[in-house]
Amino acid sequence: MIPDVTVFRFFRSGDLMFQSFPLARRAYLLMVIFITIPFAFLAFQHAQYAKQHLLNEKKQALLTIATILEQRFPDSFDITADDSRGAEAVDKRRILYNKLQPILREVAIEWPGYGFGYYDKDLRVVALIPEDTRLLGATATDEALEVYRSKHTETVYISNGFTHGNAIILSVNYPLYHRGEIIGHIWANARDKDIQAAYYAELGKTLSLLVIILLVILTGVWWLIWNNNCSLTKLAEHIKQGGEEEAYFRDFPQIKPLLDTVASLRQRLRNEYAAQVKVSAEIARLDRLNLIGDIATGVVHEIRNPMTVIRGYIQRMMLKADASQTAQYAIIIEEIDRMNETLTAFLTLAKNRRVEIGLHNINLIISNLMPLIEVGAYKAGVKVEYSPAERPLMVYADDKEIRQLMLNLTRNAIEATPAKGVLSVSTALIGNAVCLTVADTGSGIPPWNIEKIFDPFFTTKDTGTGLGLAICKSIIDRHHGRIDVHSRRGSGTVFTVELPVVA
Ligand code: ADP
Ligand code: MG
Repeated sequence: MIPDVTVFRFFRSGDLMFQSFPLARRAYLLMVIFITIPFAFLAFQHAQYAKQHLLNEKKQALLTIATILEQRFPDSFDITADDSRGAEAVDKRRILYNKLQPILREVAIEWPGYGFGYYDKDLRVVALIPEDTRLLGATATDEALEVYRSKHTETVYISNGFTHGNAIILSVNYPLYHRGEIIGHIWANARDKDIQAAYYAELGKTLSLLVIILLVILTGVWWLIWNNNCSLTKLAEHIKQGGEEEAYFRDFPQIKPLLDTVASLRQRLRNEYAAQVKVSAEIARLDRLNLIGDIATGVVHEIRNPMTVIRGYIQRMMLKADASQTAQYAIIIEEIDRMNETLTAFLTLAKNRRVEIGLHNINLIISNLMPLIEVGAYKAGVKVEYSPAERPLMVYADDKEIRQLMLNLTRNAIEATPAKGVLSVSTALIGNAVCLTVADTGSGIPPWNIEKIFDPFFTTKDTGTGLGLAICKSIIDRHHGRIDVHSRRGSGTVFTVELPVVA
């Protein structure tokens, strides 16, 4: 038979739950043990009490019956003395039977289910309920006859009574006295089977209750665990998909630190990935630059040599030329010089350039350079302010390159600054770095250009080469320094160069 699909799934999921939740299985087992044992104990105890109670009740009932009988019996029925003096035992028994049996019948209506009767010491069974005339005159068992020896009411178990046949019965035997002598006894019986049955019924009831309670508790716990498991699965799925929503782990506050760790790891991965992307882009850019640089270096070398030859010939031709031609030759030579200057600048960018590193005082290099910078600034009507640090700032550097760096930066500043503007140059020691600052009150650099200004050939000027800042960058890289730029359109630009100080 194919199992019902839903039921099948239900068990499957339950099964899965237990596989992923060995804790639940253990909890279940413990719960079953801890609930079943005390409950079962209580159930047996309870049934035992119930049985005892029932027994007492029956005993009480039997005593009551016996007492009622004793009260309803005629004051004296000592037939040996009265009505039937000299009669045969059988007749005496019949006389007494007729006298007592109606009384028993009356009581039997009030107390159904019990057996009782009157037993005469000499005549034996005289009257009895349930009625059975065949038993008249039968002899009682020894247990019942114990009453004649002990002389008081006896409660005994009898395995073979008159009224209930071979069943085990509980019997109360109540002695009757006449003139100080026991003349017989009233008995009242109840089946022990009834008591046992009541005991088992009680036990069954309590045990059923136990099973129901157990089932309810286990179902409740199962539901809780299942629910928990569902939330946990949902949470795991949520985390897997990158979610960090509070609502999902409200049920599991213990997991919060774990989630924080996951979140921070994720953030770190994201940051690292972003950094990686940036580095890759930078590497690609450098590769491109390197290639261009390599080609350019070769080309520059090839151009410079013929240019030197051309310049030499033109100089020679100049000597022989007339005045008008001399002016034209001068222009050619000037242009060739300009080209040469550009080419030289270009070579400065070459990556395998030789640098001559030495220990220098930056203040000194810049102070020596200031007159040259001032000449350029003066031509453009720009005021120059120079504030060097008070103490010497020693760096390992190629002084020619530092000079080139400062000239490029100040030239750009002067070119960007209108007349009456200010160019400020300063040096300072900040932490472990020597800071060179070149600030101007010029046009500023628009934000969309800031990223590009260090690229070779990026220029916004008609006659610019776009190499000045690229050279600055390569010089700073060779000196293990860094350069920062802050600029605001219309109000000026500040370039800050940091170089490691030699303490
Ligand atoms: P070039 O000076 O030949 O244009 P650079 O590499 O020196 O090449 O400079 C690149 C560009 O950066 C310049 O064209 C200019 O737009 C911008 N720039 C550099 N310095 C400044 C400055 N101090 N103020 C304004 N813009 C500047
Ligand atoms: Mg420039």
